[in-house]
Amino acid sequence: MNTRAIHLPHDDHDCGWYAALPPPAATKRLSGKQQADYAVIGAGFAGLAAARRLAEQKPDARIVLVDAQRVGYGASGRNSGFVIDLPHKMALEHPDPAHKQRLLGLNRAAIAQLQRLVTQHQIDCQWSHAGKFQGAVGPRGLAYLEHFERLMTELGEPFRSVDRDELAKVIGTRHYSRAVFTPGCYLMQPAALVRGLADSLPNNVELLEQSPIQGLQRDSKGQWVLQGADGQIRTPSLLLGTSIFTQEFGYLRSRLLPVMTFASWTRPLTQAEMDSIGIQLDWGLTPADHAGTTVRMTQDRRLIIRNTYKHVPRYGKSVSDSTRQEIREGHRTALLARYPQLANVPFTHTWGGVYAISRNFTNFFGELETGVYATACDNGVGAAWGTISGTLLAEMAVGSDSKHLQDIKSVTGMPSRNPPEPFLGLGVRTRIRMAAWNSRSEL
Ligand SMILES: Cc1cc2nc3c(=O)[nH]c(=O)nc-3n(C[C@H](O)[C@H](O)[C@H](O)COP(=O)(O)OP(=O)(O)OC[C@H]3O[C@@H](n4cnc5c(N)ncnc54)[C@H](O)[C@@H]3O)c2cc1C
Repeated sequence: MNTRAIHLPHDDHDCGWYAALPPPAATKRLSGKQQADYAVIGAGFAGLAAARRLAEQKPDARIVLVDAQRVGYGASGRNSGFVIDLPHKMALEHPDPAHKQRLLGLNRAAIAQLQRLVTQHQIDCQWSHAGKFQGAVGPRGLAYLEHFERLMTELGEPFRSVDRDELAKVIGTRHYSRAVFTPGCYLMQPAALVRGLADSLPNNVELLEQSPIQGLQRDSKGQWVLQGADGQIRTPSLLLGTSIFTQEFGYLRSRLLPVMTFASWTRPLTQAEMDSIGIQLDWGLTPADHAGTTVRMTQDRRLIIRNTYKHVPRYGKSVSDSTRQEIREGHRTALLARYPQLANVPFTHTWGGVYAISRNFTNFFGELETGVYATACDNGVGAAWGTISGTLLAEMAVGSDSKHLQDIKSVTGMPSRNPPEPFLGLGVRTRIRMAAWNSRSEL
């Protein structure tokens, strides 16, 4: 039983992706006493996929999906919009090739699923099979790139080396020495995609927003009771798609690390500005050195800069305005290093988002105790992973089986335990600072 006060999500109000959407429909909040066959907490990629799959597998069941915020307001609506097929950088180092092939298969199943839903429901979210560049600025980045090429060769995955001149014709800057292009990545507008996914949920899913669950306990009949401010949901089967907030319900405590990263975007460039720097639409570049800068050009001509990591023990709060201002200035420096011609083009939004990593880079997936299932800890690449792990969590909860379910069980595990504070905070902050310092030429 968990009755203590819990940290709730409070994301900042300056997410460009969310601001670019039309105002959402009126909110439906949790009120009164409700009974559900299945309840899902968290309406990000994981929770949305879980609710959809539950509904497909159990068309006569009542499924309630509940989120503390509006759909699209959490990390799933504020990321950089890369839906990545390749295993996460750390997972690429895994010694077992079969492990990596399973991860690839799972991520690709997620992409196929999203592609199908975007087409079927005509979700207007800049969905695009653009592939992605991985860019190196100096010797450090180039060393990472060479290592990445070796790993891709071992994996038998296609890639293409792109030199400075060829890259500049697409991205409009000669800042990078070289890049590697991999074709399997898709790009999208994340807030638009998750809102579209929520709007197209099957009829037997009820979505309740702005309804933080503040307590979780089991009643005398063994059902879970999810307590909100103005109502409660009783259910025999609970699925958690709550990422780092899973700890707040008493699970995986001291095993997840809350990390924030940040993005800024410009106003839409004019056609004259696009022409003057010779830049194309709709591409994305991630840094060869993971502590570097991600850059994206959207279909509506905005440039996005994402960098900076912060360990945020108080993850229910956004960072202060002054910290956000400091981060925005760092984004400005990164923008002008690449596009000095855009000195007069302002950023219109700067935002952050929180996600969970684990010290052993292991994702959790499975049953936490009778009737409680969770997928948590995607190490920051959760668009594909959240989608497939949420889908398969639903399959596990209803007792069905599939090859993908077997695969996800074999590639996930228990995130390792963190050292106690203050050693944890000190260690993580030192590591992030060292990575930022070592990678400063790649920023
Ligand atoms: C700036 C940035 C850039 C990123 N770029 C990428 C990228 O390009 N590609 C990629 O794959 N990943 C990226 N990520 C990571 C990605 O956004 C996350 O991995 C992913 O969104 C996790 O999805 P999720 O559904 O597991 O969790 P979340 O999206 O975090 O969803 C959890 C939900 O739970 C809700 N919740 C929590 N507690 C409660 C409660 N008590 N009651 C009710 N609801 C609750 C929250 O409001 C939230 O909506 C990025 C992240 C950031 C911040």
